[in-house]
Amino acid sequence: LSTELAQMKERLPEWLEASRALTAEGKTAAYIPELAKAPKEALGIHILNMNGESVSAGDCGLVFTMQSISKVFTLLLALMDNGEEVVFAKVGKEPTGDDFNSMLKLELVEPGIPFNPLINAGAIVISSLIHGATPEQKSERILRFFCELSGNETLGYNLDVCRSESATAHRNRSLAYFLKDNGVLDDDVEEVLDVYFHHCSVEVTCADLARMGLVLACGGKDPVTQKQLVPRRYVQIAKTFMMTCGMYNASGEFAIAAGLPAKSGVAGGIMTMVPGRLGIGVVGPALNSKGNSVAGVHLIETLSREFDWSMF
Ligand code: GLN
Repeated sequence: LSTELAQMKERLPEWLEASRALTAEGKTAAYIPELAKAPKEALGIHILNMNGESVSAGDCGLVFTMQSISKVFTLLLALMDNGEEVVFAKVGKEPTGDDFNSMLKLELVEPGIPFNPLINAGAIVISSLIHGATPEQKSERILRFFCELSGNETLGYNLDVCRSESATAHRNRSLAYFLKDNGVLDDDVEEVLDVYFHHCSVEVTCADLARMGLVLACGGKDPVTQKQLVPRRYVQIAKTFMMTCGMYNASGEFAIAAGLPAKSGVAGGIMTMVPGRLGIGVVGPALNSKGNSVAGVHLIETLSREFDWSMF
């Protein structure tokens, strides 16, 4: 084991338990009823380096849905399918400072396009840009892409979560119909949302997220197979969005505390990385008021401080 991972292995259980104490302050996401059932006290982490060595701690075996973490990868696929010019005619490049599902500001970026691809409105537009003749084909291409990046051929959907979200997605529906009215969505709204709910409900473990994060940390090259899975330029774009918008309206705070590109999801997952070195997957379903894993954020901030990981 590398010196860094060996040191981590020794201290990780203690740091993890300190962070776990914060789960008492958090709440599981309730607006998607299936997600409310997740174990509130759980906290797990998996850290993977470029030599394929890893350390993990806590509830790292927990299976959870990617939710917003999937938006990073649909953005990459949309860029690969369409190129930068087409994608950025439909979504902006700026953080919002509002909640992830905010209806505010949709009118402000000309001509009614979402501020960035990581808020819900932007991610719904990105789902519509994925190539495929039918929603099923689009979803299948997205799932294949996630399998390739995670090195895990067995990834699949949690259909209970997918249906549960669809049944209660009044806000996402209204965002999507508004985008349709603005001429930003070309396709049938329900078909676009079907693709969106499916990629949000892909199930992973911390190890899958660590591997996906490591590919991003390595500029799109799979360090295990040495295959360039995503063009370096697109990975650069995705990581920049993670730094500026990945933790919703807590992105500035997280950038100051941890200084790493990261993306969270409402099932409690966080994918982050140390550029050029490590991929990291964390899960802790208890969320803070900004919709980020309360214990997960604390644990990553602790590690970043202890190992001086901030990019700044
Ligand atoms: N599927 C979730 C939603 O649209 C994703 C949001 C999130 O993880 N923040 O509300």
